[in-house]
Amino acid sequence: MAIDWELTEEKLAKELTKSRYRHTLGVMHTACCLAMRYGADLEQARLAGLLHDCAKCIPNKKKIEICKKKHIPVSDFEIEHPVLLHAKLGKYLAETEYGVKDPDVLSSIEWHTTGKPDMSLLEKIIYTADYIEPGRDKAPRLHEIRQLAFTDLDACIRMILEDTVSYLSRNPKAMDPMTTDAYTFYCERSSHGS
Ligand code: FE
Ligand code: FE
Repeated sequence: MAIDWELTEEKLAKELTKSRYRHTLGVMHTACCLAMRYGADLEQARLAGLLHDCAKCIPNKKKIEICKKKHIPVSDFEIEHPVLLHAKLGKYLAETEYGVKDPDVLSSIEWHTTGKPDMSLLEKIIYTADYIEPGRDKAPRLHEIRQLAFTDLDACIRMILEDTVSYLSRNPKAMDPMTTDAYTFYCERSSHGS
C-alpha cells in the first residue's frame, strides 16, 4: 500500500468541518496505538482511522441521494436515521475517491458506527478508537473503557456496546439491529470466557 498521507489528509480536511477533522486525527492516532498494542497492521489502522468519517459532513439528504444514485442499498431504518449512512457511504468514498482497496480497511469504515458480531481485529480497533479518542468527553465510564481498550479489547467492546445499547434504549426507535446483535455476540463470548 503506497499511501500519500499528505495528499489524503489535505483532501479529507476539505470535506470535513474543523471539529470533525480533529476527531478524525484523534481516531487515527488512537487506532495506531491500539494497532501497536495488539500487533495489527499499523498502516491499515492509520488509513481506516483517517478515513472512517470521510462521509460524515455530507448533508443527510445528499447522503441518501448518492446512495440511490450509486445503487448502494439503503434500509428503511437508514432512511429514518440517515446519519448512520455515513459509515456505508464512507466505505464507498474511501474506495472510489481515496483509492482504498484493502477489504479489511473498507469494512472497518463500514462497521465503525454500529459495530457487528465477530469483528476482525482491525474492525475492533476502529470501533474502539472512534469511541475513546482523546477528544471524546460525553460517554460514561470513559476512564474505565479507555484503560480496558489496552488490556482486554473484547471486554472493552462489550462495555462500549452495553453503554451504547442502554443509551439508545431510551429511544428504542433509534436502535440499529446490528448494534443489538453485536452486543449479544460480545456478551456471549465473554460469558464463555474466551
Ligand atoms: Fe462516524
Ligand atoms: Fe467518528
